[in-house]
Amino acid sequence: MPPYAFFKKQFVPLAEAKIGVMTHAFNYGTACFEGIRGNWNPEEKQIYLFRPQEHCLRLLQSCRILKINVPYTVDEICEMSREVVERCGYQEDVYVRPLAYKSSELLGVRLHDLEDDFLIFAIPFGPYLDVDAGARCGVTAWRRIDDNMIPARAKITGVYVNSALAKTDAHDNGYDEAIMLTADGHASEGSGENLFLVMGNKLVTPSVTENILVGITRQTIITLAQAELGLETVERPVDRTELYTADECFLTGTAAHVTPVVEVDHRPVGSGIVGPVALALQRVYFDIIRGRNKKYRDWCLPAYPKLVRTP
Ligand code: PMP
Repeated sequence: MPPYAFFKKQFVPLAEAKIGVMTHAFNYGTACFEGIRGNWNPEEKQIYLFRPQEHCLRLLQSCRILKINVPYTVDEICEMSREVVERCGYQEDVYVRPLAYKSSELLGVRLHDLEDDFLIFAIPFGPYLDVDAGARCGVTAWRRIDDNMIPARAKITGVYVNSALAKTDAHDNGYDEAIMLTADGHASEGSGENLFLVMGNKLVTPSVTENILVGITRQTIITLAQAELGLETVERPVDRTELYTADECFLTGTAAHVTPVVEVDHRPVGSGIVGPVALALQRVYFDIIRGRNKKYRDWCLPAYPKLVRTP
């Protein structure tokens, strides 16, 4: 089966989904997107899309900020995302990318008086960071963009220049991942992940006003920490040096899942190995995203509905 995409209102082979060189979004970064993981469950031969509703809602919110008109509802985008995966017939972990963009082929930096279009593709996608060994992070000199520059809470393609500068800076300095500070020097997030600290019997994470992308994995972990481990999460500004003194640190994201951070700026975090809280959260989280925990089954959408057994 060739990979399929949803492009210009229909399902087409991915190879046929092409845009012109003058496309506004390509020239000016005027697109909003989502990344939804589909997690392969080998026993059921099923792929579970994780929290697609939340991702599709965030996409529509991003589009509202960027004045992109999407003629579909959250439910319709979820269903189309599922159908793209089903048509591709993948039997492995995948990543689904819905993307809404300014599609006019003309010159002119603006958001108004432009056409919009919408596409979805899905590709096989394995681990992003090393969830077992953990990541070595460095605080990058590239500051996180501010809400009044390019809003970080919108998942806008152009925003990812900020993430790309940070990620490559970290890579070039021998780290696995970057941690970005806000303009006023508080820890914001990784290049594609939210940031958590374990401090005593609490989790601490930068608040939504710290120029973070308000992550769906972040919310998932806040919920699971409380419900499964009895750990409260405090959302507040986080100083850079708190990263050095926390008991544990970890990153969360659709791509990164729950990735422990074992080192920040050449200082071991806690004892310098994967900590017990990150490990406990990983255990519940990995079961849930593959549809193995009945309690949280509502978060999982099966890509192959014909395989769903009714109890
Ligand atoms: N921050 C940034 C900059 C990201 O790109 C992502 C990945 N989408 C996240 C945080 C984590 O968000 P989520 O858990 O919704 O994937």
